[in-house]
Amino acid sequence: RSAVVERAEELPTESVPANRRLGRRARLGRWRASQKITYSQTPDLYGSPPAPAVGVRTTREREGRGRGRVHRLHSTLMPSSRTFRYSTYGDAVRLLQSLAASAPHLTDLSTTQSLFGLSTAGTCVSADGSRGPCLNYVLQITNKATYTSSRPEVLISGALHGDERVGVVTALELCRWLVERYHHDEWVKRLVDTRNVLIMPMTNAIGVAQKTRAENGIDPNRDFPFDQSPSLCMQTIAARSVNELYRSHLLQLVVTFHGGMQAIGYEWGAYPYYYSGSAHRSPDDNMMRQISSVLSSFAGSGNVPGNRPYPNAPMNDLVYPVHGGMEDWGYAASWDRGKVRTCNPRTYGGYPQAKTSYGDGDARAFTVLVETSDSKAPYEGSLGAESGVYMPGSAGDGHVPRNMRLALAAIDLVQPYVSAWQVATANPAPNVVCVSWSVWGAIVVEEAAILRRDSPSSPWTVADLADGHGQAVTKLAQGVWGASSSPMRPVVKTDCVTLGLHAKGSAELAVRARVDPSWGHAPASKFAPGTGPQSHLAKSRAAGYSSKVGTHTLSSRLEWMSQPLLANASSFKHFRRHN
Ligand SMILES: [Zn+2]
Repeated sequence: RSAVVERAEELPTESVPANRRLGRRARLGRWRASQKITYSQTPDLYGSPPAPAVGVRTTREREGRGRGRVHRLHSTLMPSSRTFRYSTYGDAVRLLQSLAASAPHLTDLSTTQSLFGLSTAGTCVSADGSRGPCLNYVLQITNKATYTSSRPEVLISGALHGDERVGVVTALELCRWLVERYHHDEWVKRLVDTRNVLIMPMTNAIGVAQKTRAENGIDPNRDFPFDQSPSLCMQTIAARSVNELYRSHLLQLVVTFHGGMQAIGYEWGAYPYYYSGSAHRSPDDNMMRQISSVLSSFAGSGNVPGNRPYPNAPMNDLVYPVHGGMEDWGYAASWDRGKVRTCNPRTYGGYPQAKTSYGDGDARAFTVLVETSDSKAPYEGSLGAESGVYMPGSAGDGHVPRNMRLALAAIDLVQPYVSAWQVATANPAPNVVCVSWSVWGAIVVEEAAILRRDSPSSPWTVADLADGHGQAVTKLAQGVWGASSSPMRPVVKTDCVTLGLHAKGSAELAVRARVDPSWGHAPASKFAPGTGPQSHLAKSRAAGYSSKVGTHTLSSRLEWMSQPLLANASSFKHFRRHN
């Protein structure tokens, strides 16, 4: 069955008996018109090819308030059935170049050689067969026209180990997904409009080209200055490339793909925090544990035989401790300074020591290790297809859709986003407005309130519920990443408020949310060192934190507001979205 039919069957047909004679699609159109919901999709997309997957079906948490079914249709175009394949270094470069050329308003393609003057690790073969220097490409994806220095930043690393190949395809296809679907996929558009996404599909470029783990014999994931000897760090171009990106961006969340087992690992993973029995947790464990669990459940198993949802735990519990691992370094080099000694490598003509002396904001990213698959290069037929990305468990699902979902979740989780829209009631009453909302980028909504103000110069105040039960405040709800919610089926809350406007009056409404309160606290016990949370990401949702790296800035916020909605007393039947 197509999703269009499925949606039609969910319609409250009993309230529109005259429509029973109509076909399902016509009935859907009638119903939609009768509900006066503001849809952002254009008519030509509506009802055409089957199945928006994201956001077409919604869950009502609270039955008592709000009337009429709440459906939020996103303008999501059905992906093609194109299957995913491994690509060579040359093919990957060609894809990145064509994506960048096709969307100059959304992308900047560069290399760490051109950006930071790094050396090249050797010679690679281009798509046309010519040989040239191996370049470490970075595709930056964001809406450049609206860019501000406070836009949150995420880095996706495809492969620090060149023979672990699922992450390379995942990162490349993620580039394509974000660029090509920008105009057809409401979720993708919002992510690209509100995040600065850096994607490095071939972090260890020469390793990817040669299908070898190391870069010229040196393991890049022991090459970072965290519990590592000065002569044994920053020896590889791969590690230097990562180092330069951390130093020039305010990275909050980093996904680093590997392969050879299935797991999501988080800090700590270094010897100083390894103890027999079970490992000590990091001060950011509340946030890390919750996000890793969300990434695991949204990724699913990829519908690949033998796969299971990713176990997720601190790396010291999951695998084994290492010296010089990227993850602990990326999380803690800016504040756990006793573990960091500046590097003095001899390779590629050396590397300035100042490059491993860190400012306060450089290395505080939640750096998530993802071990994608038991095989480092699974059978190509198990990689999946575009059609599987938003349809977990379907025939098109596979290793790559699974990890694209994981990366999309990480990009979403870097910042809360309150989505609010007005819905009509089945029995409209004067001065009553019903507002639905959901909170993206968040797991727990600690408190949400519907606010109103009568003019842009007046202060926001909490609106009163139309049923007389007090103020429109909800305590403890699920964010879109809550346990029984996901972008495919986001939890939506609805409340109706009374406005008390005069005949010609108007008011603005907005939803304000406070989210993920536990992130601002260290875990209850057994964590080290004895300090509060240190990551940008955890601190960005608590009071009184700010940071700066290069031109990039971060100011924490306790409360997140939706775009305002405009309600006119004179035209309650014609609410429109105002943003
Ligand atoms: Zn690896």
